[in-house]
Amino acid sequence: MIYQHSFTNGTQSDLPIGKVVCVGRNYAEHARELNNPVPSEPLLFIKPSTAVVPMAEPVRLPEGRGAVHYETEIALLIGERLGGEVSDAQARTAIAGVGLALDLTLRELQDDLKAKGHPWERAKAFDGACPLSRFVEPAGLDLDNLPLSLTINGALRQQGSSAQMLTPIIDLLRHIAQTFTLLPGDVVITGTPAGVGVLQGGDVLEVTIPGLLTETSRVLPTA
Ligand code: ZN
Repeated sequence: MIYQHSFTNGTQSDLPIGKVVCVGRNYAEHARELNNPVPSEPLLFIKPSTAVVPMAEPVRLPEGRGAVHYETEIALLIGERLGGEVSDAQARTAIAGVGLALDLTLRELQDDLKAKGHPWERAKAFDGACPLSRFVEPAGLDLDNLPLSLTINGALRQQGSSAQMLTPIIDLLRHIAQTFTLLPGDVVITGTPAGVGVLQGGDVLEVTIPGLLTETSRVLPTA
């Protein structure tokens, strides 16, 4: 399945698929569950466009590279160029859609890379590492109070709200734009609440922004 940005109302976006700028440890409880310090400024990394796949497509786990963790995150589709010093209003206007992402992570490999002081890309930016949902139009949404949750095989595994973010959505966009100019079609994923864990072949995932968006995915059985 070829990924294209799309909306829950059935419209396809003609925005290209750009980079995905990701934020680590944006929820204090998640930083603690992995015994990581809470960062003093947003911890940023990037997934290339080749990491993006449709959420509805079954997840194929990379083979022979250790455990793959799920991280459920609010995703922002960028509709306007955002670079340098930008205002709250410019950041808000640049958001073309709000959706959900899975920040798939080869956790054992990431731990190994972290221990060596090496970059995380092999663990976070591989092909298929960023399943993206459809988006909803942002008009009228309270970005500081967006709930999100994940169930796996019917059991609640992650539940949080953008209200718990260490750096809220608009501040995050303003911060990112100072280093990485955001272009139309780029996506920002905003960190994961607590409850991350290992994906198993055959798992059925349901991610939700209650009242706005629900998507299901499943993990292909492993050989
Ligand atoms: Zn993440």
